[in-house]
Amino acid sequence: MTQSLSFDDLQAILHQGIAHLPDHRKPSPNTRYTMQDAALGAFGIFFTQAPSFLEYQRRLQASQGRNNAQTLFGVQQIPCDNQIRTLLDPIAPSHFDPIVLAVFQRLEQHHLLDSFRVLGDQLLVALDGTTSFSSQAIHCPNCLTRQLSNGQTLYYHPAITPVVVCPRRSQVIALPPEYIMPQDGHAKQDCEQMAGKRWIRHHAQALAPHHVTLLGDDLYSKQPFCALALAQGFNFIVVCKPDSHPKLYERVAFWQANDGITACERRHWNGRFTAVALYRFLNDVLLLEGQEVTTIALSRITRSRLTTLRRLRKRAVVGGRSQTKTTIFSRPRATMLHTTLGMASSILRR
Ligand SMILES: [Zn+2]
Repeated sequence: MTQSLSFDDLQAILHQGIAHLPDHRKPSPNTRYTMQDAALGAFGIFFTQAPSFLEYQRRLQASQGRNNAQTLFGVQQIPCDNQIRTLLDPIAPSHFDPIVLAVFQRLEQHHLLDSFRVLGDQLLVALDGTTSFSSQAIHCPNCLTRQLSNGQTLYYHPAITPVVVCPRRSQVIALPPEYIMPQDGHAKQDCEQMAGKRWIRHHAQALAPHHVTLLGDDLYSKQPFCALALAQGFNFIVVCKPDSHPKLYERVAFWQANDGITACERRHWNGRFTAVALYRFLNDVLLLEGQEVTTIALSRITRSRLTTLRRLRKRAVVGGRSQTKTTIFSRPRATMLHTTLGMASSILRR
């Protein structure tokens, strides 16, 4: 049974999480704004999605003696954007991670994540990178840099913003982000895969017990990432492209030539033509050759029109498109999918 969770409950988590933010100002009797006012003011801007929210509230306070920033969010003194930046900029983003995790745990306690669970009670967490800022003029020591073709340097701030997702649902649940930025003791620039591994190490203890399968694109289908995810208690489903895994595809081709790949097919009429999803499945594949390997399973899903698929099978392809996506799975998930596909396949044969 799901239980409701009010805005006040979520606000209480926010207030508790910002109660002890570090204050980088020198102690002064003239300090007008508290760190809590700065954090709540920033939250108000993001919550209302209105950059001028605080300015409007200040005018409301001056003209009518009251404002919504206080009643809605508990802001005592309304700081302006610049004051918020001055107060919050020195604070590491990780100070806010416990708030995001506390919201996740509260949702879980209230059974509000139950309807997100798929593939045998798993929560799917999509890892994907995004860039929040880029400039050729403004930069800081935490920027990544890239040389542009015009000789200029581009400074930018990327981050991984993991979210709990569920097929056919538009809502997502945010989890703590991981910023891709220069790391102490590393001469090389930071990258998405490294940040993904840091995220796993930082949050495995809090998240892995909730049965989490990580989803990622091809850049995550690397031995160190997959091995770390498994060791820390996560499952994974990641895209695996032929050009980045030539050896793996050689082995898959061998099994395919020797009928070693399980396959099943699902057809449905989409109103215009018969669409076919062809699933091919191989268990116990080594991600790499050599000493240190992770055993994974591989799935190829080809989506196509039935007519195109028939021509493909006769190797007489004339027009029409088919799209194949190959992913690799961690073993426990793979075993289950194998069972599912095996059942689907036996039903289709009837
Ligand atoms: Zn920067």
